[in-house]
Amino acid sequence: MPEKSTENLVLLLDSSRSMFRRDYAPNRFEAAKKVITTFVQTRLKTEAGTQIALVTFGSKVTRVLDFINIPETILSALDEIELGGKSPLGDGLGVAVQILIGELRKVGARVPRILLISDGQYTNTAIDPVRLAKLCSGLNIYIDVIRLGAMEHFNIMKKIAQMTNGQFFYGNDVNDLIAIATKLAKNPTSAATVFDKEDARFAPLLAQIAGNLLKVGELTSDQKSLIDSLLGKNASKCIVCFSVDDPITKAPFYISGRYCPNCNQPMHINCAAMWAEQDGKRTSSEIFRCPHCFYLLRIPAEAHKTRQLHKLMRRGESEPPSSEQSDNIIYTTRGIAKDFGDRALFSACPVCLLIFEENDKVVSCGNAECNALYHENCFLKLEESRCKKCGLKMQPPP
Ligand SMILES: [Zn+2]
Ligand SMILES: [Zn+2]
Ligand SMILES: [Zn+2]
Ligand SMILES: [Zn+2]
Repeated sequence: MPEKSTENLVLLLDSSRSMFRRDYAPNRFEAAKKVITTFVQTRLKTEAGTQIALVTFGSKVTRVLDFINIPETILSALDEIELGGKSPLGDGLGVAVQILIGELRKVGARVPRILLISDGQYTNTAIDPVRLAKLCSGLNIYIDVIRLGAMEHFNIMKKIAQMTNGQFFYGNDVNDLIAIATKLAKNPTSAATVFDKEDARFAPLLAQIAGNLLKVGELTSDQKSLIDSLLGKNASKCIVCFSVDDPITKAPFYISGRYCPNCNQPMHINCAAMWAEQDGKRTSSEIFRCPHCFYLLRIPAEAHKTRQLHKLMRRGESEPPSSEQSDNIIYTTRGIAKDFGDRALFSACPVCLLIFEENDKVVSCGNAECNALYHENCFLKLEESRCKKCGLKMQPPP
């Protein structure tokens, strides 16, 4: 696909004090600027579609330039950079990743790539670069590294590149660095090939880093008050279907609803699953992006079940009873549907194939592996009180 042959590339440039050192002529930072100049000019000649952004990390992290493919603009932005401060690599990477995730959520996203140029003397901050690299590898974001300065034994820069299938280079002097930049710039398609080929392999990683939707009962009091102040009376109104009760099961929001852990917006799990099915960018059946903030989320397992049942009901079919029939007598449990929680919410009565309303009287099959629920009236229609799902004979407890 043509979209995949070009890249969204974030140049992540170390602008800390140590870049003043003169072991490279005339100093490390000027050498790094030459690297970028060579890289940008060569790359945009080779692959004009590459979009390049620029982030620096020094006394603070700065988004110097958003994605653009005009070499003059990029190169003149380099002259505005001020050196100083420590080297918060994790924070810098965090901003670069944030920018790329913003692009990734769009349809037909380009290959996301970070080119880190640093002398490697980074400062520890709350954001661990290695954890971010792990995140990047899960999101198919490549981190290439061009390293200058003194080499230490333990090299986190190299690790970051390896973890993300990126390339690591070390340059001894300016000429070395320029040769590296040229080589890297001329080779945009190798990345795209890897991206296509490895999509499938990386999909499970995407699922692993996906966030879980929060149940109403799982919210901390802080989250609750945040949601209340943020959404007020809309706190239980699904952002997909705009209603409070679930459109499929009719269950109230406190049972059928969840909150995005990132933006705190409410949605029904069934609506989330429906949204996921329509999301063309989805790479696995387990994950989707929040309709509001595009945060990568996991589809709750319950949602799969409900939707399968829903389809089944619409086709007017019931699940065939299990072939393993035995005459072990098992006992039933009786109650109100809502007492059975998720079980009542995410199943339908095997006799009438309808779902349960909160206050329906229900009878549950006592076979622990089956647990089928019946409407009380439907239960009476069962032949020999045999469960339609597991085939076992049921009787009221003595
Ligand atoms: Zn909804
Ligand atoms: Zn969200
Ligand atoms: Zn029924
Ligand atoms: Zn059963």
